[in-house]
Amino acid sequence: MFSKSIKTVSSFICIVLFLTSHLLAQDTIQYITPGRENAAVQQQKPYVILISADSFRYDLAEKYNAEFLKKISTKGVKAVSMRPSYPSLTFPNHYSIATGLYPSHHGIIANTFYDKKRNQFYTIRNKKAVQDSSWYGGVPLWVLAERQKMLSASFYWVGSESHIDGVDPTYYFNYNEAIPIDRRLEILKQWLELPPGKRPHFITFYFPEVDHAAHRYGTNSSQTHDAVQLIDHSIQKMNEMCAQLNLPINFIFVSDHGMANVDTLHPIRRPTVIDTSKFVIANGGALTQLYAKNKKDIKPTYRKLKKVAKDYDVYLKKRIPKRWHYSKKDDSLNRIGDIILVAHPPKVFGFSNRPVSAGQHGFDNYLPEMQATFYAWGPAFKENYEIGSFTNINIYPLIAHILGLNIDSKIDGDLKVLEGILK
Ligand SMILES: [Zn+2]
Repeated sequence: MFSKSIKTVSSFICIVLFLTSHLLAQDTIQYITPGRENAAVQQQKPYVILISADSFRYDLAEKYNAEFLKKISTKGVKAVSMRPSYPSLTFPNHYSIATGLYPSHHGIIANTFYDKKRNQFYTIRNKKAVQDSSWYGGVPLWVLAERQKMLSASFYWVGSESHIDGVDPTYYFNYNEAIPIDRRLEILKQWLELPPGKRPHFITFYFPEVDHAAHRYGTNSSQTHDAVQLIDHSIQKMNEMCAQLNLPINFIFVSDHGMANVDTLHPIRRPTVIDTSKFVIANGGALTQLYAKNKKDIKPTYRKLKKVAKDYDVYLKKRIPKRWHYSKKDDSLNRIGDIILVAHPPKVFGFSNRPVSAGQHGFDNYLPEMQATFYAWGPAFKENYEIGSFTNINIYPLIAHILGLNIDSKIDGDLKVLEGILK
């Protein structure tokens, strides 16, 4: 009897916990900041929809015959590929696209990292950290727009739910995967049908499907094929829907990085020369950061690591390759590890016993498999125009220019890189 009631109580607690976490994870509310209106001058401006399909590698439209994307990219502007910023991870790169800054300059230097001064970890699975504006540097595009009295909206983007500078997009959602894609497209349409004073001119839109499929099953799987097709059909629907509105809408379709198939059976285990009592470790598949509790331990550990390193490179923070913009002098918020370990694909770090995902990214941003996608079409863009590869920090000044927004802080991107794709 006693044990039965304990069982009943514990299953009741389980149900409550399940429901709470389920409901929390399913925050599907649209947040709207009241009282905002486009200034008269902004109502004359064009529109930009910035779409990201996570992990949509530069070659996936071709590989899986994404008919609509192939057609529209040939009609508009297509980059051979787009280089992500280092490290080729989701959060650093979405936030680089949104701010025009390298990760070392905007502060989101990895999906998981440690901040010595705060004595805290930032991780993308911790919603509290993700929504805490104090982690985020730079001026994201929605903040730039709203400050200049141009309304913005977001169907997800890294940082968009974080109240950066106290400014949210006028319309936004906390990230969730419960709202079906057709419903999201419908809401996008409703935004664009609002009266001119209330209609957002800058909109972000995010697709996680290719990332999920390619991580789990690898890039050569039928699941990745299906995810590419889903995105292709969704962008076609979005495009057709927007065409009915008779508005000057520009589309920019990007991804944050590519994806590599990795050796899931033989991950690189934690090198035994690392004394875990002396370092805080932030470990990812492609990149591991070591933060010394005491500076004097950095060099001896570095030397030992150099001797044993196989299938990865070891760098002291001050000697990280310049092309990554990720060394000590770039590290404006002091978040990069004192020593970093960089895996060579197909090898990845696996310090725990958790299974290793089939597809991974985060590697050297110059590797072919890490290259991302950039297509743009709409009234602002040239037609039938192909360009070479460029780095994603240059999208920010391009969008600011199309929307006629003044950039009032220092950025790493330069309008010169992409201005040639405009009419
Ligand atoms: Zn990603």
